[in-house]
Amino acid sequence: MKKSVYMAEMDAFTYREKLAENPVVFVPVGALEQHGSHMAMCVDAYLTKAMAGATAERVGGICAEPIIYGYKSQQRSGGGFHLTGTTSLDGSTLIAIVRDIARNLVEDGARKVVFMNGHYENYQFVFEGVDLALRDLRAKGIEDARVMLMSYWDFVDDKTIEELYPEGFTGWDLEHAGVMETSLMLLLYPDLVDMDRIDPELYTGLPAVLPNYDMLPIVPEYTPPSGCLSHPGASTREKGVILRDVAVKNMVAAIEKEFGLSK
Ligand SMILES: [Zn+2]
Repeated sequence: MKKSVYMAEMDAFTYREKLAENPVVFVPVGALEQHGSHMAMCVDAYLTKAMAGATAERVGGICAEPIIYGYKSQQRSGGGFHLTGTTSLDGSTLIAIVRDIARNLVEDGARKVVFMNGHYENYQFVFEGVDLALRDLRAKGIEDARVMLMSYWDFVDDKTIEELYPEGFTGWDLEHAGVMETSLMLLLYPDLVDMDRIDPELYTGLPAVLPNYDMLPIVPEYTPPSGCLSHPGASTREKGVILRDVAVKNMVAAIEKEFGLSK
């Protein structure tokens, strides 16, 4: 069996040995969501798994399997959950899944856990699930587990943003299926991207101009026809390398700081 940072690719005996060394255990949190006509729908789960795996490698950690469904895509950050293909969880379901996974990892011995988010809308539900898990664990007398929560794009620094978005940056909420995700997919999963499918007639109205409020039921016309919120045309594999390396480097620094890992 090959050596792997991914928990699912380890046998249980190897996992137990590694866990006994008190490593950082990562849980990527993604979504199954439309990402325009130029990318597969796995983007949020697969990219986050790769980012968490790369970070785990740097800190001697373990990367658990991703949560591959996410909270309802919002029109103002992911095109909306009304779009066919986007297959979302209720908030209470995501909270319950996170709560169970966090509790189980800690019951098995993990004391340093990182939930790495890759779908904008998930964040508060992951936070809630972790908080409830820690409450469950305290009731059982386990008080020494610490959990860190992050979204990987928050570790792309301003200098890199300036370099990669010379025409101005519209914000991570509008990045859905834009330059960051597309560049990372070109680097990490090139077979799941097709830049030739960026049809100029479909990819109009980008970056999206959306109201500063939400409407329910959804008003479908507010979502640009492609389902993307910014234009991915300037994406390159090289930008993917820069984005991955900067984000991983900065995540490693934050994780080392919080968990007191010595270099
Ligand atoms: Zn995405």
